[in-house]
Amino acid sequence: MTPLIASFLNSSPATPCLVLDLDVVAQNFAALRRALPDAAIYYAVKANPAVPILRLLTARGSSFDAASLPEIEACLAAGAAPDMISFGNTVKKPSAIQAAFALGVPLYAFDSIEELQKLGLHAPGARVYCRIAVSNAGAEWPLSNKFGTTIARARELMMLAPSLGLQPHGLSFHVGSQQTGTAAYEAAIGQVAMLFTDLKTQGLDLRMLNLGGGFPVRYQDDVPGTDEFGAAIMAAMVRHFGNDLPAILIEPGRAMVGNAGVIAAEAVLVCRRIEADPRRWVYLDIGRFGGLAETEGEAIRYRITAGPGATGPVVLAGPSCDGVDVMYEKTPYELPLDLCAGGRVLIHDAGAYVTSYASQNFNGFAPLAEHYL
Ligand SMILES: *Cc1c(COP(=O)(O)O)cnc(C)c1O
Repeated sequence: MTPLIASFLNSSPATPCLVLDLDVVAQNFAALRRALPDAAIYYAVKANPAVPILRLLTARGSSFDAASLPEIEACLAAGAAPDMISFGNTVKKPSAIQAAFALGVPLYAFDSIEELQKLGLHAPGARVYCRIAVSNAGAEWPLSNKFGTTIARARELMMLAPSLGLQPHGLSFHVGSQQTGTAAYEAAIGQVAMLFTDLKTQGLDLRMLNLGGGFPVRYQDDVPGTDEFGAAIMAAMVRHFGNDLPAILIEPGRAMVGNAGVIAAEAVLVCRRIEADPRRWVYLDIGRFGGLAETEGEAIRYRITAGPGATGPVVLAGPSCDGVDVMYEKTPYELPLDLCAGGRVLIHDAGAYVTSYASQNFNGFAPLAEHYL
């Protein structure tokens, strides 16, 4: 936690709330740029679409990966130029494509013939890139089950794009979010490089490779640093593309904002509910529906603290009347033995995928409050 966040928390803001230090976002942007100086950075807006973050990144020259028309509009309102935006969702309403194209957004993702046809109709002449499904092994929040096509199908679709009035611009993949190893990028780069070569011999010269996001945050376990990812990625690019490097895009979401924010919460109830369970149940004023959606399957395991003192095992649950609103039951968590109702609990490195996941008034609870410092 940064001194700025600590001093803000001393003023005892109402909980639950996310407190985020924008300086850390600026540092993360600089670190990514340093690690991959040859890549254009497209911040994945969905990770945290707060206006101060979009403004800061715009001012620093970031581009944006938007998933919807409202995200595109938010980037434009924050000062981004339309040509700094990629419409990266492979699932888009025709009306959204049309509106984005009219606003000047130049770049569109797809992974099916049906979506490519939509783009041909509603964004004539646009640059398009095909998303490939690659292994998400090593990712704690995988994405490959829902997105991406095969190399063989991508080849067909890229060859088809010109006849639909589109510019076949490049390829993309996503190695899964909270990707804890560099090997997934290296393998994926090798795979798509072969398709670049193959298409080139067919007369189709692709210009761009979008490496997606995935760069991890250090929650409880060590992860490779940004520099390590950068070095591994560039080595793989040079190994597979030689002197013929395409334009490189990265779309970091989590790594841009995750470690910049802390959630302050309050223990609403600390109890031993079942005699046979040696663990205390700690019910917080934030849960699965208040923004901690990534605790589903206990996939993302935040570092959670509640002051000093000897600790003992706990189960962590949210405040709602829903049975799935339990964050951690299998993962061992410990909190101070003297924690009781009213005590403050901090959820660290929670700047990504929290506010944007909070429900609207489930059980009457307001969406998560946000403070940007
Ligand atoms: C979610 C998403 C990202 C961001 O992923 P992180 O793992 O948060 O870096 C990047 N690109 C696309 C297309 C996405 O859907």
